[in-house]
Amino acid sequence: MEQLIKKYNVPGPRYTSYPTVPFWKNNQLSENKWIESINTNYNFFQSSDVSVYIHLPFCESLCTFCGCHKRITKNHSVETPYLEAVLKEWSLYLEKLPFQPTIKELHFGGGTPTFFSAQNLRTLVEEIFQAKSIDPASVELSFEAHPNNTSSEQLIELYNFGFRRLSLGIQDYSPIVQQAIHRIQSFEQVKKVHDEARKIGYTSISHDLVFGLPKQTLEAIIDTVNKTLELKPDRISLYSYAHVPWIKGNGQRGFDENDLPQSEVKRALYEKAKQMLEINGYKEIGMDHFALDHDDLAKAFQEKKLHRNFMGYTTKATSSMIGLGMSAISDSWFGFAQNDKTVEGYIALLEENKLPIFRGHLLSDLEVEIRGYILDLMCHFETEFSTSSNYQPIHEEIKEKLSDLINDGLVEVQGAKVIVTEKGIPFVRNCCMAFDQDLKNHPISERLFSKTI
Ligand code: SF4
Repeated sequence: MEQLIKKYNVPGPRYTSYPTVPFWKNNQLSENKWIESINTNYNFFQSSDVSVYIHLPFCESLCTFCGCHKRITKNHSVETPYLEAVLKEWSLYLEKLPFQPTIKELHFGGGTPTFFSAQNLRTLVEEIFQAKSIDPASVELSFEAHPNNTSSEQLIELYNFGFRRLSLGIQDYSPIVQQAIHRIQSFEQVKKVHDEARKIGYTSISHDLVFGLPKQTLEAIIDTVNKTLELKPDRISLYSYAHVPWIKGNGQRGFDENDLPQSEVKRALYEKAKQMLEINGYKEIGMDHFALDHDDLAKAFQEKKLHRNFMGYTTKATSSMIGLGMSAISDSWFGFAQNDKTVEGYIALLEENKLPIFRGHLLSDLEVEIRGYILDLMCHFETEFSTSSNYQPIHEEIKEKLSDLINDGLVEVQGAKVIVTEKGIPFVRNCCMAFDQDLKNHPISERLFSKTI
């Protein structure tokens, strides 16, 4: 394994989109072209279903490992103007789209969604849905919660509206790691929020852990997983810490490169956590995710119905996603659009009655085909080349590029099928890179992507 890690631990995309963001071509994507792209989706799939992601960017203090688009402030007067802007953006979509979108899932991400008051969060969803509550069986509603500032009132208000899923940002329980990443939160505090959410009736609680953090040791991850197992969340994300301070700015400069576990140690942290989770009944789902058998995510994985978008793995496979809020990314399957990355720029564009898009990408036919293969690999660890495709020579090129992974027993090709083996799962991003047409002519830069393992 050590040899394989040495060989394949190269900078590479995480494939939350294909083409990946550094290769998007439309720096000036117009509003009309973007609306047209969503409409193409509607006509092609004959469906008005959409997922909605709302980015709530404020946090009270900076965690130095953070790679999210956020704004640090303790001033809560920012809440109202920001939410008004989000609602304005949604109303512009409703006005400009030639069909009435049906929301099948909605997720609050951040930043810290629980920065906002219970009342403000409740008003936001009531306005979006134009309803006082929603049947949780028909729409999946979820939010990210910071254990240090999630109140009973927020949990109750959102539950009463129809939310049944939340994810708690944990990272690691070691005080030394917490100090290094400037995020101090006790197990007792996490337990309090977790237990209260269970008591209220939340049916899917996820804990987000991170491996590869500064000063993280094997003992630290063992203790973190043991504490997590004590609370038995339905889902666990075990994210790889992506160290890209040149992209993420000052937030990732609070510690030294020497504080980071080296690649073999980092992989050992993951493998140990995975082993402990699997012994305790969790199944590995897609990349970096685990779930108990009863959870919808585990069922979707078994039934090959898992889907992945900018919100992460999901069970409700809508082919388009509308992202609201600063920096949020929307996806029409045939295109992407990203909102302005500053709160001020985002609000200013909306004040001019414009969708606050600052860049995007419209996919070619080949890109649409390739994104399908990459999505399959990330969700099911296998894919199958289309026999009716116009791009057969490219399929052959991809098979050729997979030869190293095949020789190392990480991938198998059976006719048109490409299958990632059990041993190959940690290297699924490397497999996707063989499909990535943008990497053909560009050297893979450490400055664009984090390492794959
Ligand atoms: S990790 Fe979460 S709480 Fe911390 S700065 Fe980033 S977005 Fe804010």
